Amino acid sequence: MADEPALVAPVLPWLAAPLARALETQTAHALLLHAPGGVGQFELGLLLAQGWLCESTTTPVTKRPCGVCASCRLVAAHSHPDMLVLVPEALRESLGWAAEDVEEGGAERSGKKKPSKDIRVEEVRAAIALALTTASRGRGKAIVIHPAERMNPIAANAFLKTLEEPAGSARFVLCTSAPDALLPTIRSRCQAIALALPPAEVAGAWLRQQGIAEPDVLLAGCGGQPQEVLALAQLGVDAAAWRALPGQVAAGDVSSLRGWPLPLAVETLQKLCHDAASVAVGAGPRYFGSASLPRGVVGLGPLLRWAAELRRVAEFAEHPWNAELALESLVEQGREALQTPRSPRRRGEIDSLHSRR
Ligand SMILES: [Zn+2]
Repeated sequence: MADEPALVAPVLPWLAAPLARALETQTAHALLLHAPGGVGQFELGLLLAQGWLCESTTTPVTKRPCGVCASCRLVAAHSHPDMLVLVPEALRESLGWAAEDVEEGGAERSGKKKPSKDIRVEEVRAAIALALTTASRGRGKAIVIHPAERMNPIAANAFLKTLEEPAGSARFVLCTSAPDALLPTIRSRCQAIALALPPAEVAGAWLRQQGIAEPDVLLAGCGGQPQEVLALAQLGVDAAAWRALPGQVAAGDVSSLRGWPLPLAVETLQKLCHDAASVAVGAGPRYFGSASLPRGVVGLGPLLRWAAELRRVAEFAEHPWNAELALESLVEQGREALQTPRSPRRRGEIDSLHSRR
């Protein structure tokens, strides 16, 4: 095991085939990798960039970067002079791409400002400047942008110019889970690669290797997106905690959601609301097991009002406000919605709710 190949990111089992396909067939100077969140488009983008820069002369770089050559080692050490990774300051730590790896755009990083959630124009300009210089090594340049939709409008426009007039030997890979949020002119100038959700067995097996017990429970909870399961696990949420959650919300108990990032807590309550509403109209739940949902006492009207409030808060959930208070109020509303007795005229009530909307 002494010679573990130096790869910049793990080749997630469901990414091996898309990686090989992209390395073999994609020649465009800009690729757009899009996939639902938590599927690994950032990892794939990094590996593609590493593959483009790989200098192996013995292994043809068609399946994956060799992980052995000098270039691969530099990429894995985050110090390749011809590679740049643009991620918003606020995400660098969680993506394992810490601030000191990025030279540009950190002028006011000295603690007085919150880390930016955007990819800013000065960072994009640094990437363009890199693209315009001669490559230090022999394989051109590679620039990874993730999540691409976080380029703010000025940054996106600056970047568009580079796509219109390709700069020398630079290649770009844009990763996104929201391609519609990109400028249409950026989308149309990139070659698109869509990544599907991994099959549940593959994702489940991988999660088990990561130490997740009963991965199917959390995988369903995360809409089949395996990296989101790891994010939940990092918050201490296991399958049992996930199963217990609906009952706790129905009892007005906010404790298990405390300490979660507000956007994730709101999204989770939205999933619960969705499932309760599905069950109320006779369909199956999607994110929680039937057995863990409050039994047979759910009316649709309060659920729809709860859903509307969740949507409203979700829009602002990333803004700095009193998360604790917002969460308590949402859970209180959830408690009421989940305990509302079902009306005997349920079907008629549902119809009238639909026609009024
Ligand atoms: Zn290599």
